[in-house]
Amino acid sequence: MTDAYRNLIGGTLRPPESGRWLDAENPATGEVWARIPASGQADVDAAVEAAKNAFPGWSAQPAAVRGHFLQQVAKVFAEHGEELARLETRDNGRLLAENIQRAGTGMAFVWNQAAGRTLEAVTGDSVVLDPGSFGFTRREPYGVVAAIVPWNAPLAMLSSKAATALAAGNTVVVKPPEQASVSSLRFAELVAEVLPPGVLNIVAGTGEEAGDPLVRHRDVRKITMTGSTRTGRAIQRAAADHLTPSVFELGGKSPNIVFADADLDAAARGVTVESVFTGNAGQVCVAGSRILVQRPVLDELLKRVRAITERIVLGDPADPATTMGPLISRAQYDRVVGYLTSGAEEAELVLGGRHGPGLVPALPGGYWVEPTLFTTTDNSLRICQEEIFGPVAVLVPFDTDDEALALANDSRYGLAAGVWTRDLARAHRFVRDLDAGNVWVNAYRQTRYELPFSGVKDSGYGHDAVLEFTREKAAVIAS
Ligand code: NAD
Repeated sequence: MTDAYRNLIGGTLRPPESGRWLDAENPATGEVWARIPASGQADVDAAVEAAKNAFPGWSAQPAAVRGHFLQQVAKVFAEHGEELARLETRDNGRLLAENIQRAGTGMAFVWNQAAGRTLEAVTGDSVVLDPGSFGFTRREPYGVVAAIVPWNAPLAMLSSKAATALAAGNTVVVKPPEQASVSSLRFAELVAEVLPPGVLNIVAGTGEEAGDPLVRHRDVRKITMTGSTRTGRAIQRAAADHLTPSVFELGGKSPNIVFADADLDAAARGVTVESVFTGNAGQVCVAGSRILVQRPVLDELLKRVRAITERIVLGDPADPATTMGPLISRAQYDRVVGYLTSGAEEAELVLGGRHGPGLVPALPGGYWVEPTLFTTTDNSLRICQEEIFGPVAVLVPFDTDDEALALANDSRYGLAAGVWTRDLARAHRFVRDLDAGNVWVNAYRQTRYELPFSGVKDSGYGHDAVLEFTREKAAVIAS
């Protein structure tokens, strides 16, 4: 018998109205180890109703009081971080060491940061209009916020969305990812003791059955979603009926550009283990899956990339010796293998390419793909244009700065970019001219809590910040 986790609605843990459940699968073993609700319209309606009812009370709390509540949530992570991390690793295959760091200190920091920012949400401007009157602005929360979360970092995404939306005085309904909801639902059990009923609701289920009714709901006043561009589009269409404003943090196909003057040792790490050959098998929105390399250093860089990649150890994500875990699911494995096949037909294989149970004989039920690198000069190939979301990259050589910039920007996505160079003028030019929401020079994956994080083009818009979850009202009081 597997554990069954319930939804959090109006402060109570509830099974799904339909009585239907989904399996939680361990992607490293294929084992079904828990059940999560297969929620539908009735559960979503109840959660939105609970959030709507809680809104007047929560939004009327002084900022300091809301901040105090959020600090209590931070304590949940400080005290239960390791337990939550273990559940998440079992559910989504991310390395345990990474999850412990995130779910403990990382998430506590996010909730404490939000607690310290509640004042932003109640601070407006005052404007003298003429000698007898002035105008001012009030920041007001939207009301019920729907938060849609992906599977590669469920608790981290839940936290960045819910903490900021709650800090601003909204109430929230979270729809965690069907592939990895257990950590969010265990968090729901813990947080039920901490927040007033209905302020935060968590409803698990598929995108179709639970996510869609949530984003269509007329009482949802703002949506924040992290996930694929395809789903972002579907949500934007669904939200059109009520003109619901949204934050979309979507996919990417990020270029990581190595110039001949770069520190090649640092760049080789920056284009591999720090970028796309990560502990969670490249299932990273900012993965630098297009490695652009200036021709004179191509061989030298590849030598270093090979040496680093050969040391990557696939295996049990809870084992400290493992440096790369599995893909999340059979569906994602099949997708990635599809790109391995099309890549092998269209481009030249440089590294890796193997996949399947044989890669980790001790865990034959897992979804294993080894770090893989192709090379081509044709940037129009599918492996150059489509997000793969696995440990698969393509190397494209270039000669000049202009060529590198054109290649980098020749993408529908615009989430992140890396530049490896010692030339300061070039660094400034690329920061300015790269079409991306985040640019890192001589570093990669600097998604820091201290900085905003958002994309351009098909990578979305807006970001999860306290002010983003408020709207401004203009008022005039004449004497
Ligand atoms: P996904 O788009 O398949 O699912 C994301 C969430 O949307 C899930 O909770 C899913 O149930 C829900 N959903 C699906 N269809 C829906 C619908 N019609 N209405 C409402 N909700 C719906 O994404 P995924 O496969 O879980 O995650 C991988 C994707 O997320 C990649 O594209 C990755 O780049 C992206 N991602 C982006 C960021 C970022 O910050 N930009 C971070 C992590 C992941």
